[in-house]
Amino acid sequence: MNEKISRFLETRQPSTPCLVVDIDIVRDNYNALRASLPQADIYYAVKANPAPQILEALVSLGAHFDAASFAEIEFCLEAGAKASALSYGNTIKKQTDIARAHEAGVALFTFDSAAELEKLAAAAPGARVICRILMENDDAQWPLSRKFGCDPAMAKDLLIAAKNKGLKPYGVSFHVGSQQINPRQWIAAIAKTASLFADTARSGVDLEAINLGGGFPASYRDQVPEVAAYGDIIATALTESFGNAPPRVIVEPGRGLCGDAGVIQSEVVLISRKSADDETRWIYLDAGKFGGLPETTEERIQYRIRTPHDGSATGPVIIAGPTCEELDILYDKAGYELPLALKIGDKIEFLSAGAYTATYASVGFNGYPPLDEYYI
Ligand SMILES: *Cc1c(COP(=O)(O)O)cnc(C)c1O
Repeated sequence: MNEKISRFLETRQPSTPCLVVDIDIVRDNYNALRASLPQADIYYAVKANPAPQILEALVSLGAHFDAASFAEIEFCLEAGAKASALSYGNTIKKQTDIARAHEAGVALFTFDSAAELEKLAAAAPGARVICRILMENDDAQWPLSRKFGCDPAMAKDLLIAAKNKGLKPYGVSFHVGSQQINPRQWIAAIAKTASLFADTARSGVDLEAINLGGGFPASYRDQVPEVAAYGDIIATALTESFGNAPPRVIVEPGRGLCGDAGVIQSEVVLISRKSADDETRWIYLDAGKFGGLPETTEERIQYRIRTPHDGSATGPVIIAGPTCEELDILYDKAGYELPLALKIGDKIEFLSAGAYTATYASVGFNGYPPLDEYYI
């Protein structure tokens, strides 16, 4: 575990469950992504972790921001971001929120339907608009392949319609799925976008920007490629698809910037077996699906877990949260083993838990408050 976070946990002994985030790692991840993809403007996907300390650190590094709601736009402005550095990238927005964002100076919006385009034309006249296309999410551990985007033929028609409605058709976006462990997934996505660019150009609409979405991974149980591998493959794909006249490139990392920066510490509340000869222990923690670990749904995101007894003999476990809800089982089938020496009262840590945790907690299901958060 990161030394700064270990030291903090040791000296402060915060009550659990809690999330501790090392802002230096967020900065390092931002700089590493910028070095790997120098041609791209980085729009941090605020929803991954909207803590003001993270937003302020990224503002000082010159980041742009992708907001999913008007509240997230306000968080960015309060952290010192300029409205011109923001995009409102959720394809599902109330018209009143579009109007407020437009009034605040936000000039870049994403949409994926005719009805949303109507709202944008009415509430954000003259704004730049990006159309999101559906994309295969193979190899993504947290897929986002159905809810957002439209097919490229519809995108072409909508981008042409955007121009006729007084908006600026600006570009195309996609998302290859969150925690995308295969950088080659961007190759087909970029090629598909390039042919859509060519199609719309034939109809007299020249697009300027390609938004490659997020998907850059954090380090969970599976090994993931280095960020440099993503940069190399994406750069090659851009050249192959667009030749020497590349569009403006946007990326929207969330998890890849703050996932590895945080640790959730939790206490073991109960260890039990369901029958006398049951080999599997049930480990019940004070953190669970409603307290910051909803990405354990279907055991998709598999955090690395650290215990005070690492290195000693282990046995199979089922890991669960503290609430009176059967859904609140974190890992049953994923083959986790924990030390046989683990005991009630031990503190254990979920590593790489800086993204999609703190603000993903319920307000107080079963009376359990959301995670305490520390940014150091
Ligand atoms: C959630 C989201 C992202 C961030 O995805 P990560 O996989 O966390 O990088 C980027 N863009 C959009 C539009 C999103 O909804």
